[in-house]
Amino acid sequence: MTFATMIVMIVALYPVRAASIGFGAGLLATLGVQDRFGMGWWIGVGVLLMLTTVAYRLVLFERSTVAQRDLDNAQGRMATRLVAEFETHSSGWFWQTNAEGEVTYLTSKVALELDLPDTPAIGEPLSQLFRMDGALTETERTIAFHLSSRTAFSNYSVRPVSRAKLERWWSMSGRPIFDEDGIFLGFVGSGTDLTERRRADAEITRLALFDGLTGLANRQRLRLALDQMLAQPAMSQRMISLFLLDLDRFKSVNDTLGHQMGDALLKQVAQRLQRAIGDAGLVGRLGGDEFQVIMPGHADRDKLGELARRVIFDLSQPYSIEGSAISIGCSIGVAVAPQDGADSETLIRNADLALYAAKGDGRGIHRFFRDELLIGAQSKKQLEDDLRRALVGNQFYLAYQPVVDTRSERIVGYEALLRWEHPTRGLVSPAEFIPVAEDCGLIESIGEWVLRTACSEAAGWPGDVRVAVNVSPIQFANPVLPSLVTSALAKSGIAPHRLELEITEGVFLDESAASEQMFKTLKGCGVRLALDDFGTGYSSLGYLKKAPFDKIKIDQSFVKGATIAGNRNAAIIRAIVSLADALGMDTTAEGVENHDEITLIRDLGCSHIQGYVYGKPTRAADVLLQLEVGGGMATASGYQITRNPRTAMLRNARIEAGAASGDVRIRNISSTGVMIEGIEVDEASIDLDVLIELIEDQMFPAKLRWASDGRAGLEFAETFNLERLTPPGVPQAARKAG
Ligand code: C2E
Ligand code: MG
Ligand code: MG
Repeated sequence: MTFATMIVMIVALYPVRAASIGFGAGLLATLGVQDRFGMGWWIGVGVLLMLTTVAYRLVLFERSTVAQRDLDNAQGRMATRLVAEFETHSSGWFWQTNAEGEVTYLTSKVALELDLPDTPAIGEPLSQLFRMDGALTETERTIAFHLSSRTAFSNYSVRPVSRAKLERWWSMSGRPIFDEDGIFLGFVGSGTDLTERRRADAEITRLALFDGLTGLANRQRLRLALDQMLAQPAMSQRMISLFLLDLDRFKSVNDTLGHQMGDALLKQVAQRLQRAIGDAGLVGRLGGDEFQVIMPGHADRDKLGELARRVIFDLSQPYSIEGSAISIGCSIGVAVAPQDGADSETLIRNADLALYAAKGDGRGIHRFFRDELLIGAQSKKQLEDDLRRALVGNQFYLAYQPVVDTRSERIVGYEALLRWEHPTRGLVSPAEFIPVAEDCGLIESIGEWVLRTACSEAAGWPGDVRVAVNVSPIQFANPVLPSLVTSALAKSGIAPHRLELEITEGVFLDESAASEQMFKTLKGCGVRLALDDFGTGYSSLGYLKKAPFDKIKIDQSFVKGATIAGNRNAAIIRAIVSLADALGMDTTAEGVENHDEITLIRDLGCSHIQGYVYGKPTRAADVLLQLEVGGGMATASGYQITRNPRTAMLRNARIEAGAASGDVRIRNISSTGVMIEGIEVDEASIDLDVLIELIEDQMFPAKLRWASDGRAGLEFAETFNLERLTPPGVPQAARKAG
């Protein structure tokens, strides 16, 4: 490389240095010419080189400082823009305090919220603006604590100190700042708005604790409140009255008028209930048409009863919904803590049992829980378990009661009545176990057994003697019924017109297209249909138009007492008969027990009679005997005049009155009462409620009506079927002779 090339490269790579060297070299040349390369000349060269390098460095430094400043400015602007963007358009904000804890910076949206007319947020101590969100006093001091101890904190839930700004929640974090020398400068931090989230949380809580339709407390809230009240330490605070309400006939309103009307009705019910209870308790809806009221504090039964009656009255007044007047009723079960249950579960169960009793006693009333209700429920459960075993254990049989043509006195058919021979309890009345079987779903299989057995037993009867089978509304609602009927007919070989299905008014509670279709299909099978127990149930005549009945069975309650002068039953029977005649239907008077009644029923124009007067229900084998002996004719037996036949007997029986019990002798018994002896009672005991053992180990409720000379008369709470005193299977003739 030549010297010239080297110079060129240096100039190209380091132009500034080359320029300074060049400049230096130029100076050297000038000085060198004058000094002719002496000492002074060399010193001059050195100084010049140094100066040139310094000048060059200064130029470079100047250039990089300007560039850095430009960069810093751009970044600063960007950061400010981003912070402003964040502060305005997000839920976040910033804050800063000085060493004294006074706010020096606060994002303006938060500052504006906290500004009071006399105190602007900036300059205020931080702890005067925000307080911890929480009821605990020790946490309330936490912000001040961190400020004074100069320690960081994060994600604290805070609210405005000022009460006027209550509806705000923030999450706040902060850390202390120090300068390079470690001097404390204050706090810097950030926050986010939690208000919306809090509101959403509150809404979720509200939804979880309140009934969406009525705005009342819901099941969870009621349960929570009850649990809390019952867990109070003081006994006096645990005194709670619980009302359980169920609307009567709500389902039919809902089904016939639609859910919208049903919902509107429930809202009005809720308002009325809330108004009736006022501040006395917590009102809630459990779901459907079930409501609950929890009332704290001691209340005596009279007052609770009065309140329950008022609630029932209020809720039973007509409602106006979309221009229609709607009437419903209400039943109430009442349980009182702690005596009826010290925990929620027991108390609710017992109120439920009381409600069940209120419904069972006719609805539209209230009932208090009593221990007997629980015993009743337990024995019902026992009955259920026993029923499950009954069918497989062959404990059922059918008893047949003759149905007699009023004019010819010929037996035209028999009603099949189910009998249950319980292994330990003996004969159990169908009136007792059929409702249980309906409740626990066993009625389907029991009903099928009845249908098949009745058809196959009737197949052995002569001629056209019919068999009537009771069909529960639950069976009627099941679409398989027609195929069951045709199968039973086919298997037994009896003609369809010989089978009569007895249906109670209960089927019309569900007045749906399905039930209309069921009537049609059954009629299509060729069987006869009878309306059983007419006048006891739903009793709307409208359905008689639609349902193709062949017969109306007038309930025995109308026959009872019909012969007594001044009794209106005869007039009612006459009206039913003319109605049935007009519709081309037969009529059967049920429960005819004596000759006078036969005469009356005949005079009133009933086409058929069924009752003890022509025979009690007997075993299938006796039916053949009865038909053979009488040549198909019925023989009336019994009394000429209407009175309760008394059966003389002498038997020891247990009697209980409250906690006391003892043995008495039964002198005679009728279906309504019993005369006992061997008991000394005073005047004060008249109308006393007692229990008497009529059948071994079975106690029956009764009232003591009179007492004298060691004898007393008890009136039964419910009619007692005297048949139950006779062991099953004893033929009618044998019973009469005995
Ligand atoms: P029901 O269908 O009205 O049957 C007539 C009831 O009246 C029978 O009671 C019968 O014994 C009774 N009875 C008949 N004549 C007289 C009388 O002159 N005086 C009195 N005091 N009573 C009389 P039972 O057998 O106790 O049956 C009661 C109810 O149980 C029946 O009333 C029926 O509703 C139901 N039931 C009976 N068997 C069945 C069945 O197989 N299926 C269904 N679903 N229910 C049944
Ligand atoms: Mg019947
Ligand atoms: Mg009946």
